[in-house]
Amino acid sequence: MSDETILLDINSVHAVYNKTIKALNGVSFQLRRGEILALLGSNGTGKTTALKAISNLLPAERGQVTSGTIRFEGRDVLSEKPANLVRSGLVQVLEGRHCFKSLSVEENLISGGLGRSSSRREIAADLERIYAIFPRLKEKRRTASGLTSGGEQQMTAIGRALMSRPRLLVLDEPSMGLAPLVIKDIFRSLKALNRDDGLSILVAEQNSTVALRYADHATVIENGVAVLSGSAAELRSRDDIKAFYLGEGAAFAHDRPAA
Ligand code: ATP
Repeated sequence: MSDETILLDINSVHAVYNKTIKALNGVSFQLRRGEILALLGSNGTGKTTALKAISNLLPAERGQVTSGTIRFEGRDVLSEKPANLVRSGLVQVLEGRHCFKSLSVEENLISGGLGRSSSRREIAADLERIYAIFPRLKEKRRTASGLTSGGEQQMTAIGRALMSRPRLLVLDEPSMGLAPLVIKDIFRSLKALNRDDGLSILVAEQNSTVALRYADHATVIENGVAVLSGSAAELRSRDDIKAFYLGEGAAFAHDRPAA
């Protein structure tokens, strides 16, 4: 890829499960360095499959990319082991905020840094950084994750991903099942990480109202194909798009972008 600004390049990707069930039908989109890209679309349109393909996780689910290319910093993702992709800076927070429920919040966070050969001092510094981003996690650091709220578990899952120092953080439906204020809190933290640390973020969301408020660009997926891409500002202002692709009513038009 000659364009240095492109961090992730997905080109005409087709994917199937169990050799027969088509999930992606030629999806293409690009993420530029330093941006937040929202992947939008309703239930079952292929967002999760696209994210798993990006980390080469489909084979673990009897899935397979049958054609097309996925490049992260120019590297062919489909010939890399998922763990190598994490080491090279491509880190996922999977749907459902997976935490080790019996481990404390802090132990969960530390587990995210284990793939790196870091010193105790580096780990302690990274923990402090995460507690600065999510102060609630510091308060709960000795609590078993299973006893914390859904929002705190999502923060823990994001914090654990941050411990491996990603350059591209990929999140699948971080808002799922959370209260509006908690969702806002999480998206504000993601925005701060993007703004202050230059972290690139790809976030799949059914909650397009929230995602479009914080993203720079968005791609809409329908039936395994990207049907629309544009700046978030542009998509926010187009009621016809929201009504047609995103199932949003007119109420959306009255939402204001984040300060
Ligand atoms: P959701 O928001 O519900 O996760 P999505 O947009 O992320 O939806 P996918 O989960 O990628 O969509 O699903 C795309 C298609 O692939 C759907 O038809 C789904 O039923 C199918 N699919 C997803 N996972 C599997 C699997 N492990 N085995 C078989 N089919 C699957």
